[in-house]
Amino acid sequence: MNMLAVIELREIISNQQIVYAESIRKILKTDNSISKKINNINSLKVGFQKPFELAIKDYLYVVCLFSLKQVSKELEMSNPKKLSIELRSWINATSQTVTGKYLTETNQSVTLPVIDNIGRGLSDNELVYRVNLLFDEIKLKKPDKIIGGIEGKGLLRGRNLAVQIYNKDVKLETEGFSADLMGTLKQERVVAAQWSAILDKHVCELCASLDGRIIDIDSPDYAFYSPGEIHLGCRCLWVYIRSSERPENRRVDWKVPKTTLLKKYAKPDLKKKREIEIEDEEK
Ligand SMILES: [Zn+2]
Repeated sequence: MNMLAVIELREIISNQQIVYAESIRKILKTDNSISKKINNINSLKVGFQKPFELAIKDYLYVVCLFSLKQVSKELEMSNPKKLSIELRSWINATSQTVTGKYLTETNQSVTLPVIDNIGRGLSDNELVYRVNLLFDEIKLKKPDKIIGGIEGKGLLRGRNLAVQIYNKDVKLETEGFSADLMGTLKQERVVAAQWSAILDKHVCELCASLDGRIIDIDSPDYAFYSPGEIHLGCRCLWVYIRSSERPENRRVDWKVPKTTLLKKYAKPDLKKKREIEIEDEEK
Protein backbone atom coordinates (compact mmCIF):
# COMPACT_ATOMS: atom_id res chain seq x y z
CA MET A 1 0.00 0.00 0.00
CA ASN A 2 1.34 3.44 -0.78
CA MET A 3 1.38 4.93 2.70
CA LEU A 4 2.44 8.40 1.57
CA ALA A 5 -0.70 8.90 -0.46
CA VAL A 6 -2.88 7.36 2.26
CA ILE A 7 -1.38 9.61 4.92
CA GLU A 8 -1.86 12.64 2.71
CA LEU A 9 -5.55 11.87 2.14
CA ARG A 10 -5.97 11.23 5.85
CA GLU A 11 -4.52 14.65 6.64
CA ILE A 12 -6.86 16.33 4.17
CA ILE A 13 -9.86 14.52 5.63
CA SER A 14 -8.74 15.69 9.08
CA ASN A 15 -8.88 19.27 7.88
CA GLN A 16 -12.27 18.67 6.29
CA GLN A 17 -13.46 17.28 9.61
CA ILE A 18 -12.25 20.23 11.68
CA VAL A 19 -13.86 22.81 9.43
CA TYR A 20 -17.07 20.86 8.95
CA ALA A 21 -17.59 20.11 12.66
CA GLU A 22 -16.99 23.76 13.47
CA SER A 23 -19.57 24.87 10.87
CA ILE A 24 -22.13 22.46 12.32
CA ARG A 25 -21.43 23.73 15.82
CA LYS A 26 -22.04 27.30 14.63
CA ILE A 27 -25.34 26.39 12.96
CA LEU A 28 -26.56 24.54 16.07
CA LYS A 29 -25.69 27.51 18.27
CA THR A 30 -28.00 29.90 16.41
CA ASP A 31 -31.54 30.68 17.60
CA ASN A 32 -33.03 29.38 14.34
CA SER A 33 -35.85 26.83 14.27
CA ILE A 34 -34.93 23.17 13.93
CA SER A 35 -36.11 23.03 10.32
CA LYS A 36 -34.02 26.09 9.48
CA LYS A 37 -31.00 24.48 11.15
CA ILE A 38 -31.56 21.30 9.18
CA ASN A 39 -31.73 23.33 6.00
CA ASN A 40 -28.49 25.07 6.78
CA ILE A 41 -26.77 21.81 7.64
CA ASN A 42 -28.01 20.23 4.43
CA SER A 43 -26.47 23.00 2.40
CA LEU A 44 -23.07 22.62 4.12
CA LYS A 45 -20.34 21.24 1.91
CA VAL A 46 -17.18 19.38 2.90
CA GLY A 47 -14.24 21.52 1.81
CA PHE A 48 -10.66 21.06 0.61
CA GLN A 49 -11.71 19.76 -2.76
CA LYS A 50 -8.62 21.00 -4.58
CA PRO A 51 -5.99 19.50 -2.23
CA PHE A 52 -7.90 16.23 -2.29
CA GLU A 53 -7.96 16.19 -6.06
CA LEU A 54 -4.30 17.11 -6.25
CA ALA A 55 -3.25 14.30 -3.91
CA ILE A 56 -5.09 11.81 -6.10
CA LYS A 57 -3.69 13.32 -9.28
CA ASP A 58 -0.12 13.14 -8.02
CA TYR A 59 -0.52 9.52 -7.10
CA LEU A 60 -2.25 8.51 -10.33
CA TYR A 61 0.62 10.13 -12.16
CA VAL A 62 3.29 8.00 -10.53
CA VAL A 63 1.22 4.85 -10.96
CA CYS A 64 0.76 5.51 -14.68
CA LEU A 65 4.43 6.23 -15.10
CA PHE A 66 5.30 3.01 -13.34
CA SER A 67 2.80 0.99 -15.33
CA LEU A 68 4.04 2.31 -18.66
CA LYS A 69 7.59 1.57 -17.68
CA GLN A 70 6.72 -1.93 -16.56
CA VAL A 71 4.76 -2.87 -19.65
CA SER A 72 7.23 -1.35 -22.05
CA LYS A 73 9.86 -3.54 -20.44
CA GLU A 74 7.66 -6.61 -20.87
CA LEU A 75 6.95 -5.77 -24.49
CA GLU A 76 10.59 -4.84 -25.04
CA MET A 77 9.75 -1.33 -26.15
CA SER A 78 11.57 1.80 -25.11
CA ASN A 79 10.66 3.54 -21.87
CA PRO A 80 8.18 6.37 -21.37
CA LYS A 81 9.82 9.76 -21.51
CA LYS A 82 7.01 11.65 -19.96
CA LEU A 83 3.29 11.29 -19.87
CA SER A 84 1.42 12.45 -22.94
CA ILE A 85 -1.21 15.17 -22.94
CA GLU A 86 -3.86 12.54 -23.52
CA LEU A 87 -2.79 10.53 -20.49
CA ARG A 88 -2.46 13.67 -18.39
CA SER A 89 -6.00 14.70 -19.21
CA TRP A 90 -7.22 11.22 -18.33
CA ILE A 91 -5.45 11.58 -14.98
CA ASN A 92 -7.12 14.97 -14.45
CA ALA A 93 -10.56 13.66 -15.31
CA THR A 94 -10.16 10.56 -13.13
CA SER A 95 -8.96 12.63 -10.16
CA GLN A 96 -11.99 14.86 -10.53
CA THR A 97 -14.39 11.94 -10.76
CA VAL A 98 -12.91 10.12 -7.75
CA THR A 99 -12.91 13.34 -5.70
CA GLY A 100 -16.46 14.17 -6.76
CA LYS A 101 -17.68 10.75 -5.74
CA TYR A 102 -15.95 10.96 -2.37
CA LEU A 103 -17.36 14.43 -1.69
CA THR A 104 -20.92 13.52 -2.67
CA GLU A 105 -20.87 10.44 -0.46
CA THR A 106 -19.26 12.27 2.43
CA ASN A 107 -21.58 15.28 2.17
CA GLN A 108 -24.52 12.93 2.38
CA SER A 109 -23.30 10.78 5.25
CA VAL A 110 -21.84 13.35 7.65
CA THR A 111 -25.07 15.32 7.96
CA LEU A 112 -27.03 12.23 9.03
CA PRO A 113 -26.01 12.10 12.71
CA VAL A 114 -27.41 15.61 13.13
CA ILE A 115 -30.44 15.35 10.86
CA ASP A 116 -31.50 12.08 12.49
CA ASN A 117 -31.01 13.21 16.08
CA ILE A 118 -31.71 16.93 16.22
CA GLY A 119 -34.67 17.82 18.44
CA ARG A 120 -34.38 14.56 20.37
CA GLY A 121 -32.92 16.10 23.47
CA LEU A 122 -29.25 15.61 22.60
CA SER A 123 -26.93 18.48 23.43
CA ASP A 124 -25.12 20.36 20.65
CA ASN A 125 -21.87 18.85 21.87
CA GLU A 126 -23.30 15.36 21.58
CA LEU A 127 -24.47 16.04 18.01
CA VAL A 128 -21.10 17.41 16.97
CA TYR A 129 -19.43 14.47 18.68
CA ARG A 130 -21.45 12.09 16.53
CA VAL A 131 -20.42 13.92 13.37
CA ASN A 132 -16.82 13.63 14.49
CA LEU A 133 -17.22 9.91 15.11
CA LEU A 134 -18.45 9.44 11.59
CA PHE A 135 -15.60 11.49 10.19
CA ASP A 136 -13.12 9.41 12.20
CA GLU A 137 -14.47 6.31 10.54
CA ILE A 138 -14.24 7.87 7.08
CA LYS A 139 -10.66 8.92 7.84
CA LEU A 140 -9.79 5.39 8.89
CA LYS A 141 -11.34 3.50 5.99
CA LYS A 142 -11.63 5.71 2.93
CA PRO A 143 -8.01 6.61 2.11
CA ASP A 144 -6.92 2.97 1.70
CA LYS A 145 -9.95 2.25 -0.43
CA ILE A 146 -9.52 5.30 -2.65
CA ILE A 147 -5.78 4.81 -3.09
CA GLY A 148 -6.22 1.10 -3.81
CA GLY A 149 -8.89 1.93 -6.36
CA ILE A 150 -6.88 4.49 -8.28
CA GLU A 151 -3.84 2.22 -8.17
CA GLY A 152 -5.82 -0.36 -10.12
CA LYS A 153 -7.15 2.25 -12.54
CA GLY A 154 -3.71 3.75 -13.18
CA LEU A 155 -2.00 0.42 -13.72
CA LEU A 156 -4.66 -0.69 -16.17
CA ARG A 157 -4.58 2.58 -18.06
CA GLY A 158 -0.81 2.52 -18.42
CA ARG A 159 -0.97 -1.09 -19.54
CA ASN A 160 -3.65 -0.42 -22.14
CA LEU A 161 -1.75 2.50 -23.52
CA ALA A 162 1.48 0.54 -23.81
CA VAL A 163 -0.35 -2.23 -25.64
CA GLN A 164 -1.90 0.30 -28.02
CA ILE A 165 1.55 1.66 -28.75
CA TYR A 166 2.87 -1.83 -29.25
CA ASN A 167 0.09 -2.54 -31.72
CA LYS A 168 0.91 0.78 -33.37
CA ASP A 169 -2.59 2.16 -32.72
CA VAL A 170 -0.93 5.07 -30.97
CA LYS A 171 2.27 6.66 -32.19
CA LEU A 172 5.28 6.22 -29.99
CA GLU A 173 6.44 9.80 -30.43
CA THR A 174 3.12 11.28 -29.39
CA GLU A 175 3.44 9.40 -26.12
CA GLY A 176 6.97 10.67 -25.76
CA PHE A 177 8.68 7.35 -25.33
CA SER A 178 12.43 7.23 -24.94
CA ALA A 179 15.00 4.59 -24.15
CA ASP A 180 16.29 6.54 -21.20
CA LEU A 181 14.17 5.95 -18.12
CA MET A 182 16.64 7.59 -15.74
CA GLY A 183 16.47 10.72 -17.87
CA THR A 184 12.71 10.60 -17.65
CA LEU A 185 12.74 10.32 -13.89
CA LYS A 186 15.19 13.21 -13.58
CA GLN A 187 13.12 15.29 -15.93
CA GLU A 188 10.06 14.66 -13.78
CA ARG A 189 12.09 15.57 -10.67
CA VAL A 190 11.88 12.09 -9.22
CA VAL A 191 14.49 11.73 -6.46
CA ALA A 192 13.46 8.57 -4.69
CA ALA A 193 11.08 5.65 -4.94
CA GLN A 194 9.06 3.78 -2.35
CA TRP A 195 8.40 0.08 -2.56
CA SER A 196 4.67 -0.50 -2.41
CA ALA A 197 3.30 -4.00 -1.87
CA ILE A 198 -0.33 -5.03 -1.72
CA LEU A 199 -0.58 -6.23 1.85
CA ASP A 200 -3.26 -8.87 1.58
CA LYS A 201 -3.16 -12.57 2.37
CA HIS A 202 -1.41 -13.34 -0.92
CA VAL A 203 1.61 -11.15 -0.27
CA CYS A 204 4.91 -13.01 0.22
CA GLU A 205 7.20 -12.29 3.18
CA LEU A 206 9.86 -10.84 0.92
CA CYS A 207 7.58 -8.20 -0.58
CA ALA A 208 5.93 -7.48 2.77
CA SER A 209 9.38 -6.84 4.26
CA LEU A 210 10.14 -4.30 1.54
CA ASP A 211 6.80 -2.48 1.69
CA GLY A 212 7.24 1.20 2.47
CA ARG A 213 11.04 1.25 2.07
CA ILE A 214 12.34 4.35 0.32
CA ILE A 215 15.35 4.14 -1.99
CA ASP A 216 17.46 6.80 -3.69
CA ILE A 217 16.99 6.31 -7.44
CA ASP A 218 20.75 6.70 -7.87
CA SER A 219 21.37 3.66 -5.69
CA PRO A 220 22.49 0.59 -7.67
CA ASP A 221 19.88 -1.39 -5.77
CA TYR A 222 17.16 0.72 -7.40
CA ALA A 223 17.96 -0.78 -10.79
CA PHE A 224 18.46 -4.21 -9.37
CA TYR A 225 15.46 -4.90 -7.21
CA SER A 226 12.42 -4.39 -9.40
CA PRO A 227 8.98 -4.53 -7.86
CA GLY A 228 6.67 -6.49 -10.10
CA GLU A 229 9.59 -8.70 -11.15
CA ILE A 230 11.26 -9.84 -7.97
CA HIS A 231 9.35 -13.09 -8.26
CA LEU A 232 6.68 -14.53 -10.51
CA GLY A 233 3.32 -12.88 -10.01
CA CYS A 234 4.68 -10.04 -7.87
CA ARG A 235 2.16 -7.19 -7.62
CA CYS A 236 4.47 -4.60 -6.08
CA LEU A 237 5.33 -1.25 -7.60
CA TRP A 238 7.66 1.69 -7.15
CA VAL A 239 5.88 4.81 -6.06
CA TYR A 240 8.05 7.60 -7.39
CA ILE A 241 8.74 10.47 -5.06
CA ARG A 242 9.43 13.87 -6.50
CA SER A 243 11.68 16.56 -5.04
CA SER A 244 8.59 18.60 -4.23
CA GLU A 245 7.62 16.02 -1.60
CA ARG A 246 8.25 17.15 2.00
CA PRO A 247 11.70 15.93 3.19
CA GLU A 248 10.21 14.00 6.12
CA ASN A 249 8.17 12.01 3.60
CA ARG A 250 11.12 11.00 1.46
CA ARG A 251 13.71 9.89 3.97
CA VAL A 252 15.73 7.07 2.44
CA ASP A 253 15.51 3.94 4.60
CA TRP A 254 16.29 1.23 2.05
CA LYS A 255 17.80 -2.02 3.31
CA VAL A 256 18.93 -4.93 1.19
CA PRO A 257 16.30 -7.67 1.51
CA LYS A 258 17.13 -10.43 3.99
CA THR A 259 19.07 -13.31 2.43
CA THR A 260 16.72 -15.90 3.91
CA LEU A 261 13.74 -14.19 2.27
CA LEU A 262 15.54 -13.80 -1.06
CA LYS A 263 16.45 -17.48 -0.96
CA LYS A 264 12.88 -18.45 -0.30
CA TYR A 265 11.02 -16.16 -2.69
CA ALA A 266 13.17 -14.31 -5.21
CA LYS A 267 13.89 -15.22 -8.82
CA PRO A 268 17.11 -17.25 -9.25
CA ASP A 269 19.25 -14.41 -10.66
CA LEU A 270 18.48 -12.23 -7.62
CA LYS A 271 19.38 -15.04 -5.26
CA LYS A 272 22.66 -15.52 -7.11
CA LYS A 273 23.59 -11.87 -6.88
CA ARG A 274 23.00 -11.85 -3.14
CA GLU A 275 25.06 -15.00 -2.68
CA ILE A 276 27.97 -13.42 -4.49
CA GLU A 277 27.65 -10.32 -2.34
CA ILE A 278 27.74 -12.40 0.81
CA GLU A 279 30.81 -14.27 -0.40
CA ASP A 280 32.49 -10.91 -1.01
CA GLU A 281 31.52 -9.69 2.44
CA GLU A 282 33.00 -12.80 4.00
CA LYS A 283 36.29 -12.44 2.17
ZN1 LIG B 1 5.92 -8.30 -4.72
